[in-house]
Amino acid sequence: MTPEEIKELKDKLTYKKTNAYEVMTDADKAEMEKYIKGYMTYLDACKTEREAVVYSIKLAKEKGFTEYNFGMKLEKGGKYYYNNRGKELILFTIGSESLEEGIRISAAHIDSPRLDLKPHPIYDEGNMGFFKTHYYGGIKKYQWTAIPLALHGCVIRADGTSVDVTIGEEDTDPVFCVNDLLPHLAKNQVTKPLSEGITGEQLNILIGSVPLEGDIKLALLSILYEKYGITEADFISAELTIVPAYKSREIGFDRSLIGGYGHDDRVCAYPSLLSILEADDPTHTIMVILADKEETGSGGNSGMQCDVFTDLVSSISNEFSANEYLVRRNSKCLSADVNAAFDPNIADAYESRNSAFINNGVVLTKYTGSRGKGGTSDASAEFVGYVRNIFDKAGVVWQTGELGKVDQGGGGTVAVYIAEKNIDVVDLGVPVISMHAPWEVVSKADCYMTYKAFKAFNE
Ligand code: MN
Ligand code: MN
Repeated sequence: MTPEEIKELKDKLTYKKTNAYEVMTDADKAEMEKYIKGYMTYLDACKTEREAVVYSIKLAKEKGFTEYNFGMKLEKGGKYYYNNRGKELILFTIGSESLEEGIRISAAHIDSPRLDLKPHPIYDEGNMGFFKTHYYGGIKKYQWTAIPLALHGCVIRADGTSVDVTIGEEDTDPVFCVNDLLPHLAKNQVTKPLSEGITGEQLNILIGSVPLEGDIKLALLSILYEKYGITEADFISAELTIVPAYKSREIGFDRSLIGGYGHDDRVCAYPSLLSILEADDPTHTIMVILADKEETGSGGNSGMQCDVFTDLVSSISNEFSANEYLVRRNSKCLSADVNAAFDPNIADAYESRNSAFINNGVVLTKYTGSRGKGGTSDASAEFVGYVRNIFDKAGVVWQTGELGKVDQGGGGTVAVYIAEKNIDVVDLGVPVISMHAPWEVVSKADCYMTYKAFKAFNE
């Protein structure tokens, strides 16, 4: 064979990942930067699920979406959102074809790992005031020490009125932190396993130091009462949460990466949201789910396991005299969630032939789970074939990725809870470096390809 023939054969038979920068035109890059600007604004404005719901509704209203409640009438071509308790948002647009052709669903989550205040959080010790916390989701505890933190959330007062709290986001705001031990005295700490260097009960938040008649706790409570009208008992009926205080930033001399808190999973929630907001007069009925509680197992009545999703599908089906079982059977879903990007710095946790890489595009994850695919909803070859075809036709740069080495650990997504409703589903999202850290890193090109993928799926 001639060298040309061998090259031709190689191109035809072998698989090679594409670096998005090999194929993006200048116009693509300009559109990418525009998209990224919107995404970074979303990320900074939505550090909790409640904030993501408020901000997403604002964007949806600008695009003509109206609030839906059970029992209301629906119209063909109508654009609706369902606000589940202020913590989960489900948007849907009724397409022109029969509902029995199925719904195109994208399901992302809008909660992220963080530190929640305990019901009795406030105390003082050693001339300092603190909040006790209980961490939410999977974190490496030592990463949360010695960084600036902000307080977000809401409190329901004794009289039933509510107050929103956000401290630490404005440049003039104070911030909070978790203390760590100086290296000079860390002889015992540094020889412990990483998981024990800082324990859950050491994730206490420094909140002040000035006493009132010798009482620091009382001094802090009086500041909170003056500013928010809340008392110590009101912490019991509150959802107050500690998140990193900083905004997202571009990373690198070429500004090609983005550092920030909570890319998992706003980096998939945002493109899912835009994909429905930008779909005018769609053929298919489209639904986008922005769920809460994914990081703690999708439980609770704002998580993906809640019946609200099937209740909505039933209500929509009934409204258009469609058989809801058929609607679900013919529906197709992208479980919009992140995967780990290969990191050469900690390469031994990954199997590089089956890992997602930075700039190789949106990552399609056929299965998740751990120890022999435990807990996964392994997508069918047929469904993977279906979406692969869509992405190739739309010029989406995509790759596959498995979450690390076999038996190295693992994880799950909402996919399994959608699959159990008799819906075809596969995971799709952005590869992330330092996932679940207070500072996660993603590539702009991968974010942009994820946006293109969700748009193509809805068409
Ligand atoms: Mn996630
Ligand atoms: Mn996660």
